[in-house]
Amino acid sequence: MSTASVIIIGAGISGISAAKVLVENGVEDVLILEATDRIGGRIQKQNFGDVPVELGAGWIAGVGGKESNPVWELASRFNLRTCFSDYTNARFNIYDRSGKIFPTGIAADSYKKAVDSAILKLKSLEAQCSSGQVAEETPSSPKTPIELAIDFILHDFEMAEVEPISTYVDFGEREFLVADERGYECLLYKMAEEFLFTSHGNILDNRLKLNQVVREVQQSRNGVVVKTEDGSVYEANYVIVSASIGVLQSDLLSFQPPLPRWKTEAIQKCDVMVYTKIFLKFPQCFWPCGPGQEFFIYAHEQRGYFTFWQHMENAYPGSNILVVTLTNEQSKRVEAQSDQETMKEAMSVLRDMFGSTIPYATDILVPRWWNNRFQRGSYSNYPMISDNQLLQNIKAPVGRVFFTGEHTSEKFSGYVHGGYLAGIDTSKYLLEEMKQSLLLQPLLNFTE
Ligand code: FAD
Repeated sequence: MSTASVIIIGAGISGISAAKVLVENGVEDVLILEATDRIGGRIQKQNFGDVPVELGAGWIAGVGGKESNPVWELASRFNLRTCFSDYTNARFNIYDRSGKIFPTGIAADSYKKAVDSAILKLKSLEAQCSSGQVAEETPSSPKTPIELAIDFILHDFEMAEVEPISTYVDFGEREFLVADERGYECLLYKMAEEFLFTSHGNILDNRLKLNQVVREVQQSRNGVVVKTEDGSVYEANYVIVSASIGVLQSDLLSFQPPLPRWKTEAIQKCDVMVYTKIFLKFPQCFWPCGPGQEFFIYAHEQRGYFTFWQHMENAYPGSNILVVTLTNEQSKRVEAQSDQETMKEAMSVLRDMFGSTIPYATDILVPRWWNNRFQRGSYSNYPMISDNQLLQNIKAPVGRVFFTGEHTSEKFSGYVHGGYLAGIDTSKYLLEEMKQSLLLQPLLNFTE
């Protein structure tokens, strides 16, 4: 059995930032147990069609505002290559099923209508929550393909247009796409290098254990015992759990004694968003690549059906790669079918937009975040109207077991910087707790 002061479950950005804070504050005997064979979690690079693509987080969101985004600072420190993404033009590149682009006026009107309707919906929800009465003016739901497409973009992507979100308010509205051979994940390796022993870019420190799937966390008055799938047993004074909200909702991890009801109910109440970027490689580029054309939209009568497209020529010129983003039910549907089936559907959509003579894709990459038992979804999505108590309960420690991860970030849940800041917060809180218990120790010994 191996022992440590603190065991951290998970080596995503929150687990790594939590470990770094502990080590830098003198708690050197930490142990990070990671289920997979790599660090990074939902920040993951894979080579596809000769370029590195980001299967998980791709953007540094929230740049150029009054405060500096800490992930942007890390990116600058480690010279991460990025390119500016301008989403605002997407709404003027909306294709119908016959390949015609909607005139700018119609697109702008539909966009305004969708924003107004979303604001009304929010107000009516707020009114319902505070007075229990249904508002007099109710928003109309989107019906036509263009309305459905814009509704999808607003709610499944931007949302900021409807409800100002802290990322944009605090850090600014600019977004930068990571386009670096080393991948977004190099930020985690660089951070790890600062407190773990590494050689030639490999982490050789035995305080990081890969391929360790934690199944049980057992706590008593004296400490915590952690058991993994391969039968290993670890002991510590405290544990920090950084597994995603989707994993906490699943039965992968069990707690002894079981977590209290206020905790399990809060965990089950938080929604999980599934967000899937599908990559398609082509022998040549057949889509418009001029200024303002990085993003384009397909308007279909089924909401979210291969709606949001991006080309990768800005990030990697000559890569001939398109990315289409699906969410929730569409993501789950596509995860359940073969990649060839998905390629056929995507090709039929592209032929609607660009004509029947376009070349067939030569390769496809479909990440499966929903079926990944170490993720069970892409990121947390707190209900539009939820009181702060829900988040506080998800975040609160239970005895010696502490919780971190993007889903515990009060202002930035769902983002890389949310995970990064949550890791720091949780460790600072734990350090305080450790200090208190050391102060109490002599007192306890005296009374015993
Ligand atoms: P994770 O990265 O999930 O880390 C948790 C770790 O715990 C994982 O490594 C997992 O393997 C491990 N683990 C789980 N269970 C166990 C177990 N039982 N035992 C041991 N280890 C375990 N954010 C942005 O800011 N910008 C974006 O553009 C963006 N796009 C995204 C696109 C997609 C497709 C996805 C999936 C996410 C995106 N995000 C984006 C969100 C961002 O990636 C996450 O918020 C952030 O990376 C979460 O970090 P984390 O440390 O909280 O969790």
